[in-house]
Amino acid sequence: PEVYRTEGSLTLGDIFIAVKTTKRFHQSRMELLLDTWISQASEQTYIFTDEEDYALKKRMGGHVIFTNCSAEHSHLALSCKMAAEFDAFLASGLSWFCHLDDDNYLNPRALLKLLSSYAETWDVYLGKPSLNRPIWASETLPNNQTKSVRFWFATGGAGFCISRKLARKMVPWASGRNFVSTSELIRLPDDCTVGYIIECKVGGQLIPNSLFHSHLENLQLIPTSQLMQQVTLSYGVFENKLNVIELSGPFSAQEDPSRFRSLHCHLYPDTSWCLQAVDW
Ligand code: UDP
Ligand code: MN
Repeated sequence: PEVYRTEGSLTLGDIFIAVKTTKRFHQSRMELLLDTWISQASEQTYIFTDEEDYALKKRMGGHVIFTNCSAEHSHLALSCKMAAEFDAFLASGLSWFCHLDDDNYLNPRALLKLLSSYAETWDVYLGKPSLNRPIWASETLPNNQTKSVRFWFATGGAGFCISRKLARKMVPWASGRNFVSTSELIRLPDDCTVGYIIECKVGGQLIPNSLFHSHLENLQLIPTSQLMQQVTLSYGVFENKLNVIELSGPFSAQEDPSRFRSLHCHLYPDTSWCLQAVDW
């Protein structure tokens, strides 16, 4: 054949997408994601939450996973959810694990393009570095002494991906109850714990990627012409101001404060509710 496949044949079906949420965001955040990007990746996407919700279950079926984790913003509760995500991924047998927060927009095409450039048989940990330097942490040793450790980690709020090859090596520290115990050793949040396991325990390395975005960066700075190529985007409040991507339509800022509906219409213009939107 004239066309060589240089990128293997990765499909969306090879990717396990985990979205972390909590009861109070089921309506305000999850509905928006279900209407937008999750509709394009529903077979691959699993929602991890802390309370049963019939409405959510009705829309997502078996793809809603009720963890028994508490509905708190504590390190423990969040690590408990990350552990549930990790275990569900391992059980799925899929090639890639991608974690997202419930205020992320994921572009499935951009994700597929990015992951296609890495072999899933490599140790791959991709995401946006949380800081521009490694973090230092104090690890509690079995004899109760402490040791300074340093590592890079991908900020959970921008989403990150891990290849199965690497995930399998993480099992002794990340599966079942191990994840929570590991996070207690360094007393840092779940996303830091992932970086710590990969860099300090497994000997892997974060591959920084600029296509992942959280609302801790100024999202207005992403050129509008490049929004369609980004793997993840977000929205939120930063320094007391609404921090959203710069996109003029089709929906107004009142109709679509996160700008996710407008972005979705640029990516998937055939969506029924996009066709009704005027003002293109
Ligand atoms: N979250 C959670 N339990 C909580 C609070 C937040 O699982 O008690 C989740 C939330 O759904 C989101 C992520 O943690 O996916 C980050 O929360 P948020 O965006 O509110 O805070 P941030 O850390 O971004 O300021
Ligand atoms: Mn957030």
